[in-house]
This record gives sequence, C-alpha cells and structure tokens, in this order.
Amino acid sequence: AGYSLFGPIATNIGAPDEGNVHLLAHVASTAQKEQFLAPLARGDVRSAFAMTEPAPGAGSDPSALTTTATRTDGGWRIDGHKWFITGADGAGFFIVMARTSGTPGDRGGATMFLVPADTAGITVGRHISTLDRAMIGGHCEVTFDRVVVPEDNVLGAV
Ligand SMILES: Cc1cc2nc3c(=O)[nH]c(=O)nc-3n(C[C@H](O)[C@H](O)[C@H](O)COP(=O)(O)OP(=O)(O)OC[C@H]3O[C@@H](n4cnc5c(N)ncnc54)[C@H](O)[C@@H]3O)c2cc1C
Repeated sequence: AGYSLFGPIATNIGAPDEGNVHLLAHVASTAQKEQFLAPLARGDVRSAFAMTEPAPGAGSDPSALTTTATRTDGGWRIDGHKWFITGADGAGFFIVMARTSGTPGDRGGATMFLVPADTAGITVGRHISTLDRAMIGGHCEVTFDRVVVPEDNVLGAV
C-alpha cells in the first residue's frame, strides 16, 4: 500500500481503515466482525474513527471528551460534535468515542461505539481544509444528534 497513493485505495486500507481493521480484528465480537469487519475487509465499505472535537473537546488530550453516550432501553444514545474525521463522507460506519461516565477533564469514562452511517441523527458536514488532499471522504465535521445504537454495538467494554 505504501508504494503509491493508489495503494491504500486499491487495498481499502487508507486511513483510518487500516487502523480500524486492526482494531476490529483484535477487539470486536464475532457478530461485530461479521457485520462490520467482513465488509471492510472485502472492500465493500470504508470506515471512519471519530474522536476529535472542536475546542474545548478531545484532541491531543482525549480526557477532554465532551461527546456523551447515555443509556436507553437496550442501548445507548450518542450526542456530540466531532471534526477532522477522515473518510467520513461516504463511510459505511463510524467508530465513535463517547463519554459514558465522568465529566470533561476526568480520566477514563470513554467508550467506543460501532455506528452504521445510515443511523438517524448523523450529519456529515463540511470538509475541513487541510494540507492533505489524498484521503477519500475528506476530513469532515460530523454531528451526532440523539443517535441510538443497540447495546451490542459497544466495541470492547464500557
Ligand atoms: C489531516 C487530519 C486528519 C485527522 N483525522 C482524524 C480522524 O480520522 N479522527 C479523529 O478523531 N481525529 C482526526 N484528526 C484530529 C487529530 O487527531 C487532532 O488534530 C490531534 O489529536 C490534535 O488535537 P487538536 O487538533 O484538538 O489539537 P490540540 O489538542 O488543541 O493541540 C494543539 C497544540 O497544543 C498542544 N497541547 C495540547 N494539550 C496540551 C497539554 N495538556 N500540554 C501541553 N501541550 C498541549 C499540542 O501538543 C498541540 O501543539 C485529524 C487531523 C488532521 C490534521
């Protein structure tokens, strides 16, 4: 993939897909691998990883995380504003980092969620201008407004 700018595209492991493939291979449940990793490995979809937020939210310091995930009946409701999310435009799913306990500034309390991109409440906004122009799907602002996912979509542990 490293020989050419086309390499990661041809093998579907442009950032952040390589990291997400690796993460899912190690952490995802069998059902999550079937639903999310298999189509990624086949090259049917791309994915995005959503951690960074506008100030004063998470960036270099993830403990500043402001996006919240609140328990609902049988699942979680995610609310927050992310930006610089590589590949967000056209991604098949997001791995979203959200706070399940504590308040911004507290260590810990972050949980990862697998969120299909067609879930109601997700808005992919502007492509933020960066020096990099090579990534398909841009580096985007993304808002999560009352996005509900089932309990099974927690990646790893709460
Ligand atoms: C091209 C591109 C693609 C990206 N893709 C993604 C993506 O796919 N998903 C995603 O979640 N994010 C993505 N990011 C965001 C990236 O992870 C953040 O930019 C990075 O974590 C830094 O956070 P920040 O921009 O908020 O800067 P800040 O955290 O505000 O840092 C700004 C400066 O302050 C310094 N600083 C911060 N805190 C401290 C401290 N406590 N003590 C001393 N110095 C400090 C930093 O070292 C830095 O120099 C992307 C960014 C770019 C540019």
